[in-house]
Amino acid sequence: MGNVTEVRIPAAEGRAFRVPNGALLEIVDVEGQQVADFISIIENDPKEWLSATHTRSTTLRLNLKVGDRLQTNWRRDMYEVVSDDVGMHDLITSMCDARRYRIDYGVENHRSCRTNFTEALAPWRYDEWQIPDVINIFQNAPIHADRTFGNEIPTSKPGDKIILRALVDGIVAGISACPQDLNPCNGFHPSPILARILT
Ligand SMILES: [Zn+2]
Repeated sequence: MGNVTEVRIPAAEGRAFRVPNGALLEIVDVEGQQVADFISIIENDPKEWLSATHTRSTTLRLNLKVGDRLQTNWRRDMYEVVSDDVGMHDLITSMCDARRYRIDYGVENHRSCRTNFTEALAPWRYDEWQIPDVINIFQNAPIHADRTFGNEIPTSKPGDKIILRALVDGIVAGISACPQDLNPCNGFHPSPILARILT
């Protein structure tokens, strides 16, 4: 591990990048209280992608912790959680999209994670419908006793990070610094995310 590539994701924007097998991927909440929507696709076979559903089914947990294996929809281990400063992530809710802002908030032309991923993945020529399931890093979604769950201001502080190790070849990862400013999930103040790829 001597090589570090930094990908800066400005507030409310998205970026996509390759993560080599064996690399460490650090996802840093630069200013705190910011969700990083996270997707990954196998570059040469976009039918296989990181799946929150399959990960939950394996870990039997609605959160992530160190040692967890994040699975693809084809049940291959794609990442291992190496370290985590926050301990609160969301594997339940969908990413935000234009319909969410229009239907639920009456707002037109709001930036969204779905738009961010569509733009960021354009060089790979994936269509919008191919954008897979998302894991909401740093999202504060506490599970209540009656099996409802919350959507609260993240507990992440400036500089907090989670580190994942890539376990397969050919990953294209995408991160959206979620633009949601109409509910508490980004502390009502979208801010940047930093990704570091260590090889
Ligand atoms: Zn979002």
